[in-house]
Amino acid sequence: MPEQQIPNEHQQPVVIIGAGHSGVAVAAGLRTRGWRGRILLLDAEKETPYERPPLSKELLKAGAPDESTLLRKEKFFLDKGIERLGGLSVESIDRSGKAVILSDGSRHAYHRLVIATGSRARALTVPGADLPGVLALRTKDDALELKRVLVADARVAIIGAGYIGLEVAAAAAARGCQVTVLEFQDRVMSRVTSAPVSCFFENIHREKGVRFVFGAAVTAIEGVGRAEQVQTADGARFPADVVLAGIGVVPNQEIAEAAGLNCKDGILVDDHGRTSEPEIYAAGDVTRFTSRIDGQSQRLECIQNAMAQADSVAAHITGQTPSEPEIPWFRTVQHGVRLQTAGVRHPDDDIIVRGTPADGKFSVVYLRKGRLSAVDTVGGLSDFRPAKKLIAQAAAIDPALAADPSIPLTGAALQPSY
Ligand code: NAP
Repeated sequence: MPEQQIPNEHQQPVVIIGAGHSGVAVAAGLRTRGWRGRILLLDAEKETPYERPPLSKELLKAGAPDESTLLRKEKFFLDKGIERLGGLSVESIDRSGKAVILSDGSRHAYHRLVIATGSRARALTVPGADLPGVLALRTKDDALELKRVLVADARVAIIGAGYIGLEVAAAAAARGCQVTVLEFQDRVMSRVTSAPVSCFFENIHREKGVRFVFGAAVTAIEGVGRAEQVQTADGARFPADVVLAGIGVVPNQEIAEAAGLNCKDGILVDDHGRTSEPEIYAAGDVTRFTSRIDGQSQRLECIQNAMAQADSVAAHITGQTPSEPEIPWFRTVQHGVRLQTAGVRHPDDDIIVRGTPADGKFSVVYLRKGRLSAVDTVGGLSDFRPAKKLIAQAAAIDPALAADPSIPLTGAALQPSY
């Protein structure tokens, strides 16, 4: 854009708190969209911003280099004139003065502020949870610490059978550990998938020697000087050299709350990523918003959402149009088997199994009032792309056709323009 056409506003400072997927994408998106002002990217971690998905997979493999994939190389930030300040936390937001105050006392003025603080591992709060040997996994340092203790024959008790618990269980089993997973619910990944998929993955883990205890309410971690066993409500005790809590995440919304922004298990934002304060935006795991697909209030913990919200925020700040967001999608790999999900399932959706789980490759189709809401693909991706398109169209589906894996998923749609 010729210099004289650059709006004055585009020369103003933007401060972004948090250098995860969404924070980095807002910074990059602002530059791509022509923002010329100062862009300051703040992060509590000193590291060059990195991806989290490899932390519970590739990084835990024996022999893998102790590196995770960088979101962007240092050169990118330098070339784009994006200032990074790591290792400092934001103490407060001065809304009337339009500035953030950091833990070293420094003050940074903003014209627009973006809160992309993400989420943190939910803390285990039972007695003994603070003993050495009780770990969580959220940061690269957490992953390196975990990797150090996942040695052959170590007894590893994993609390929670969500993505984190199961990916770590797979890594630990592959490294020769004796793994026991303790889970509240009666099946694995109950928050994110249906019983047929849970059953399939539970079997894979069992074949690799992982033990499961369902309906397990952990009441204490016991040990002298360090964790030695996990106790559950029924009085059972599970010996453990390592205890990993993978019991979900909580949004890092405290600075937004303290600044008076509307929050309710997440910072409330609209379709543009605007909070209740017009000059302050939020993006990624920390936000709660209304789904464009089904009108439900949700907080989505996935990269797709972080990237889509980051694009909306960068577009709105620069007065441009955002790209069409992708349908949310999720991926996990356990013992080399991939589960990839398009859309967001509800527990009361109808389910149709496409294919035979015993073959190691199948899909589960979720219907809400007869329309496609989500699809899980296991061991193969042929239904994944069509699923995303059909979910975006809220396509009505013929259940009998959808159950036949010899018919492409698109052939089961009753009224798509596809
Ligand atoms: P999660 O998916 O919420 O699973 C946590 C599981 O632990 C739930 O089944 C939960 O049951 C159970 N639980 C909670 N408290 C418990 C307790 N005291 N004792 C026993 N079980 C308990 O969370 P996560 O696996 O920790 O994942 C954390 C975050 O990382 C999520 O945002 C996730 O999306 C992300 N992540 C994603 C991937 C991926 O996409 N592949 C991989 C790794 C991590 P209730 O539901 O009853 O609470």
